[in-house]
Amino acid sequence: MTRNELIELLSIPEDSPEAEAMRREASALSHKRFHDTSLLLGQIGVERHACPAACRFCSFSEGVFKDSRIDLDIPSVVEMARAHVHRR
Ligand code: SF4
Repeated sequence: MTRNELIELLSIPEDSPEAEAMRREASALSHKRFHDTSLLLGQIGVERHACPAACRFCSFSEGVFKDSRIDLDIPSVVEMARAHVHRR
């Protein structure tokens, strides 16, 4: 696909019939390509605390992060993973 073709596709209004047709076709291709399966990714903060590296952009930097330290045990990680999978 060319750059101009991509620009043209991205300029289609998201609430137009053309955009709906494109989403429908993309969904059909995805279902066919991946045999009606999907991969679910999520993040669980196993350890959460102020980081001494203190990178200036990071919300975990020492001096910025103000919450209490959290270290999750294995049962808590499993419980959070299960909750993530069953969340809709
Ligand atoms: S980005 Fe955040 S968590 Fe990573 S090293 Fe820097 S301060 Fe620490």
